[in-house]
Amino acid sequence: MNTSATHKPIKSYSSQELTELLKSYRQPSYRANQLVQWLYQRGVSSYDDMTDFPKALRQQLADNHPLFSPSIEDKQVSSDGTRKYLLSYHDGSLVETVGIPSSERLTVCFSTQIGCPMGCVFCATGKEGFTRNLSVGEIIDQVLVVQSDFGKRVTNLVGMGQGEPFLNYDAVVAALDIINSKKGLGIGARKITLSTCGILDGIRKFSEVREQYTLAVSLHSARQEVRDTIMPHVSSQPLNSLYKELLSYIEKTKRRVTFEYTLISGLNDRQVDLEALLHYCRGLLCHVNLIRLNDTPNSLFHPSSETTTHEWKEVLERHGIETTIRISKGSDIFGACGQLKNARA
Ligand code: SAH
Ligand code: SF4
Repeated sequence: MNTSATHKPIKSYSSQELTELLKSYRQPSYRANQLVQWLYQRGVSSYDDMTDFPKALRQQLADNHPLFSPSIEDKQVSSDGTRKYLLSYHDGSLVETVGIPSSERLTVCFSTQIGCPMGCVFCATGKEGFTRNLSVGEIIDQVLVVQSDFGKRVTNLVGMGQGEPFLNYDAVVAALDIINSKKGLGIGARKITLSTCGILDGIRKFSEVREQYTLAVSLHSARQEVRDTIMPHVSSQPLNSLYKELLSYIEKTKRRVTFEYTLISGLNDRQVDLEALLHYCRGLLCHVNLIRLNDTPNSLFHPSSETTTHEWKEVLERHGIETTIRISKGSDIFGACGQLKNARA
């Protein structure tokens, strides 16, 4: 590897790649673990702080692999305690991340891309278009920012911020690997959920991952024509193929899949929609998470009524499908699902 010519930021490397990089610098094997600890446990922002590294190595790394840390451009605090951060990365890119406290937990909803290319019509991020993928460290840094601002350990993670995780698969899974690892943040795999709009090859690869992460799939309709209208860019990955992919995921991992279903009045909340969902869930080890649509600026869509939402839950459960209704936190600061779009207060 011609390391010196790359000038690749150090936080773009996976744990495995850091090991190879330090090996190429003829460093002992424990050095890679130390580097991960400095970067992601102690969260240092300069090589000078890595006091147990030889000076020459620090210099070599600084010359060849810039070390960047995000800054907090803006922070908003919801009446329910949720905090939304607008982070700025070294190239000026902005991204939002959300910290959601509850009695025993601190959950981070992290972003995986700047913007999103999928263009789902009800989602504020989708309306922004896509700028770039986030790197491994840019993803992990979101967790560190929340942890340090709250002054307590993050316990849970959901990949439900800006972007489509499976369009940035390698960086996202490499970030989870460090977040999960004892030498990184040590957050249990079972406390980590990734949400995808249904990128099939991502689901396939994710089924090979050994760690017990949870997979959530944004279904939003089990009727192809409706789904194509509200999630136009996943139309090439149809519901029947998604079904087969999920069957195989469940068989391989023995893990339950969560379906996210955002209820939009008059669009995907009719009797035929419910019947289609019941039919789709048949034979799949799944759990349904109903979400009442959150407001986005200038949106043409409205949430389904509370009555409809509760009726859906009742019917689904009567058919043996475990169902929850997501209580959206932070909606007064536009920090809830689908509301993230880099706005300042
Ligand atoms: N791109 C991924 C993850 C980010 S979106 C995905 O789509 O799954 C996280 C969740 O918020 C998804 O289920 C998404 O469909 C949902 N969502 C988007 N806009 C929303 C809105 N306005 N109200 C409620 N949920 C929304
Ligand atoms: Fe992207 Fe998810 Fe929003 Fe769709 S819902 S535009 S996939 S972030």
